[in-house]
Amino acid sequence: MASIAKIAVDLSLDREFDYRIPDHLVPDVRVGSRVHVPFGKSRKEGFVIALADHSERADLKAITSVVGTEPLIADGMLELARWMSVYYCAPLEQAIRTVLPGAVRRTDARSKERLFVELEPDSPEGDALQVLRARAPRQAAVIDALRDGQGLFLTDLIAATGTSSGTVRALQKKGLVRMAPLTVRRNPLTEHEILPTEPMELMPAQAEALKLVCVAIDGLDPPVVLLHGVTGSGKTEVYLQAIAHALEQDRGAIVLVPEISLTPQTVERFFARFGDRIAVLHSHLAEGERHDEWHRIRSGEARIVIGARSAVFAPVRDLGLIVVDEEHEPSYKQEESPRYNARDMAVMRGKMHGCAVLLGSATPALESTTNARRGKYAVAVLPDRVDHRQMPTMQIVDMRVEAERTGRVAVFSQVLVDATRQRLDRGEQSIFFLNRRGYATSLICPKCGHVAECAACSLAFTYHKVDERLRCHICGDDRRVPDACPGCGVPEFRFAGLGTQRVEDIIAKLFVGARVARLDTDVTRRRHAFEKILGDFRSGKTDIIVGTQMIAKGLHFPNVTLIGVINADLSLHKPDFRAGERTFQLLTQVAGRAGRGDVRGHVIVQTYTPFHAAVQAARRLDYDGFYDQEIEFRRELMYPPFSHLACITVRGRSEGQLMDSAGAFAVELRSAVASDVLVAGPCPAPLARAKGYYRVQIIVRSPSHRAMAEVLRRLSRDFRWPNGILCVVDIDAVSLM
Ligand code: ADP
Ligand code: ZN
Repeated sequence: MASIAKIAVDLSLDREFDYRIPDHLVPDVRVGSRVHVPFGKSRKEGFVIALADHSERADLKAITSVVGTEPLIADGMLELARWMSVYYCAPLEQAIRTVLPGAVRRTDARSKERLFVELEPDSPEGDALQVLRARAPRQAAVIDALRDGQGLFLTDLIAATGTSSGTVRALQKKGLVRMAPLTVRRNPLTEHEILPTEPMELMPAQAEALKLVCVAIDGLDPPVVLLHGVTGSGKTEVYLQAIAHALEQDRGAIVLVPEISLTPQTVERFFARFGDRIAVLHSHLAEGERHDEWHRIRSGEARIVIGARSAVFAPVRDLGLIVVDEEHEPSYKQEESPRYNARDMAVMRGKMHGCAVLLGSATPALESTTNARRGKYAVAVLPDRVDHRQMPTMQIVDMRVEAERTGRVAVFSQVLVDATRQRLDRGEQSIFFLNRRGYATSLICPKCGHVAECAACSLAFTYHKVDERLRCHICGDDRRVPDACPGCGVPEFRFAGLGTQRVEDIIAKLFVGARVARLDTDVTRRRHAFEKILGDFRSGKTDIIVGTQMIAKGLHFPNVTLIGVINADLSLHKPDFRAGERTFQLLTQVAGRAGRGDVRGHVIVQTYTPFHAAVQAARRLDYDGFYDQEIEFRRELMYPPFSHLACITVRGRSEGQLMDSAGAFAVELRSAVASDVLVAGPCPAPLARAKGYYRVQIIVRSPSHRAMAEVLRRLSRDFRWPNGILCVVDIDAVSLM
């Protein structure tokens, strides 16, 4: 019998503490149990990470109590947390917290219970009820309401009869009704009728893909399948039937989708096929909903989980399949510690828990295609749209030529204006895509050139027209537009740059009478705004939508025949080695929104760099061509997938002290790693100042992950940073801001 428990205490310390297990708790303390322990002068909660027979230390304190009877973390999940902690250089306790949502972990988290009232078998009938009616009419009303034998929640019963809980309790005392708490599910799905769907007859390519995935589910050979299918090629139908196959073998499934495409529309497609066996997990759930969904999964009541990033940790038993839709999406990367990538965690969980993994995308990440070409993943390709609907035509408009021709910098080229008019005349719909929100990116003085800038973040303020305010999108600073230029005092500030609001205004002027809506994170911060805007668009109440990248994802509108990309260059000019890949992905995704009905779609891409490889490859819808060119660039500069890349960001309020200490760290790092590991920097980060901090970066590229991570893990624990200097290690970083 183990008498010692190693415990990760809720403190974000990267170490475990030994505690004695008192005899009376021995049967209850297991690996994964949640426990209360004395810590210093206070009491803390923690998780049992391992059991042991003896400890190095003699003076151990004892565990105070155990929470619940079942360990909260299943064995396999603890193992996964451990792996995540090591791989991403994060404290184990933080990794455990990530695996287990707060709504479940907190000991005060409970199921929601409501009192439920039913008739006792010998409740009055006939004459006895007549007597009661005369003597206590309110009590008789309660009996009448319960007559059908179904029972009612106390609150509903009181409301229906116009009585009070006192009336019901009086009946309970007489033994005429019984009342007991009943757990009610807090259901995140909107309550409306969803028509069930049947599996479709698959196209030949879909059938091939499904066969491969089923083989993977049954025998893990191959363990990972990459499903490379153009938008509208029917990937989702393959997911649905693969999940059905897993269910037939009594196994569960997880479907990951990027947070912004986790729309009711997406969830409903799964719900329509699998009904109540679906559970939903994402960040917009209320605590109670999250708690209940988690327990439905843990208990096995729900067998399929659909959710965003963190759903990869859902406690599904006998997991047979994890689907990662849009596997290339940067939003699968968590931007706080542990900085895990849910796609990569899915592959690792598959390996640990013996389940198949299906990665789907129209534009797979270079890493994934490389894994496929190296034979690590199997590939299934869906080259055509369902029913052989044609891919849209792509047209590139050179805005430099446009500017020369018209003598001014226009937001809309003549080509785009004409194409839009045509759509309006024909009653078809258009989407305009812009990678910016707000009205204008910045406020520039026409006389002295002064730019309204956030002093704390070295970034131009964004001008928001609705409320005439300037906002910093980094630190959230929010202020009134000054009456005059702070530089020279002239009252006219000019709006330069371009935002969704400004495009919306221009459209209203260009196309009088057109019904325009805007979709960006500013708008959708209001609850249900997203659904309302999309609903209006789908039902034809609006003609044009202007939006940011959130409209590039997974939406399906048959009547959209024109897509305009207002400025394709924005994502190209980011200081990031993945800028080209992102632009290619974005343009391809956006194009996928056009022509999903009977009319062939047309995409117009406005750009100042028409010959950029990413733009050209997107125009030809040529993934392989893009891959071949881009992979050479990555090979030459030893970027992923030819290396593992860690981005170390150090920040501090004193610039000199920051450079000195980051420099010292880089020196130690260089001397500790093997000679084939490249350490660059420290250099000022692209975002050189944020929230009053200076920021510098050290970029590490290493052929092997292990060689790099071991050193980083040791150094980030042992290196003595001066007070006020903060260091963040991001393994496999996807954003280099
Ligand atoms: P993707 O996920 O690749 O973008 P979808 O799964 O959304 O593609 O499929 C696009 C459309 O084609 C959907 O409306 C879907 O219902 C339909 N579809 C998919 N597979 C078939 C099929 N085998 N036969 C007929 N229609 C299909
Ligand atoms: Zn700021």
